[in-house]
Amino acid sequence: MPPTAGYLIVRGLELRWPDEICTCCGEHGNEFLSWSDSYKATLSIGVVSTYASHTSEVKVPVCSFCKKHINQTGLSNSLFFIGAMLALLSPIALYVYAMLHRSETARFFGMAPRDLWKILLPGAALALVVGFLGAFWIWSRRMVKLETGIKSNCSGIAGGVQRGEFRCNFHPASDGTYTIPHDEAWHILMFDNRKLEAAFRSLNQIELNPDRIPENDVIKS
Ligand SMILES: [Zn+2]
Ligand SMILES: [Zn+2]
Repeated sequence: MPPTAGYLIVRGLELRWPDEICTCCGEHGNEFLSWSDSYKATLSIGVVSTYASHTSEVKVPVCSFCKKHINQTGLSNSLFFIGAMLALLSPIALYVYAMLHRSETARFFGMAPRDLWKILLPGAALALVVGFLGAFWIWSRRMVKLETGIKSNCSGIAGGVQRGEFRCNFHPASDGTYTIPHDEAWHILMFDNRKLEAAFRSLNQIELNPDRIPENDVIKS
C-alpha cells in the first residue's frame, strides 16, 4: 500500500500538528479531539511468551465549533449502528416473546398455536423493515442538519483528518520489559483537507517504505 493522496503513513511515536490551527476549518483553535489506539504483539523473551501493548494517545487540534460538529457526526453514526442492530434483533425478540407466551399469543390472535407462524413471519419482517427505515430516517435527518450547520471553510462534517491505525515495534529486554524506539512507531491517517495535509507533512516524518510497518501479532525472539 503506497502512500497516496488521502492517507498518510507517519513515522514516530508522537505526531506534530500545526500550532493552534483547527484541523477542520483552518481557523484558530485551542481545543482538542483525543484519539487513542492500541497495538499489541506477542513477544518471546527466552522461553517465555508475553504480550506487549502500547496505547497511542493523539491530541488533534480543533476549534470549539468544529469539535462540536465532529463529535455530533460520530454520535449520529453510532446511533445509526445501534438502531440497525436493534432492527436486526427485533424479529428474534418477537419470536422469543411469542414462544414464551405461546398460548396467550395464539388466543390473542384467535388462532391455533401451530398457526402462529402465519402472523409471526410477516410481523418479524415488518419489525425489521420499519426498525431499519426508522434508524435510517433519524440518521439522515441528523446528517442533513449537520451538513447545513457547518461553516463554508469546514473540511466536512467529520473534520479534516480521520484516524487510521497505530502500529509499532517492541524491543524486548532480558528482564521482561520492552521499549519502543521513536522511529519504529507508525500512525496511519486519512486527510480530507489538502492544505492541512501539506502543513502536516512538513512537520512530520512521512514513511515512504510501508513494508517496514509490522503486521498484527508479530512474534519476536
Ligand atoms: Zn474549526
Ligand atoms: Zn468544521
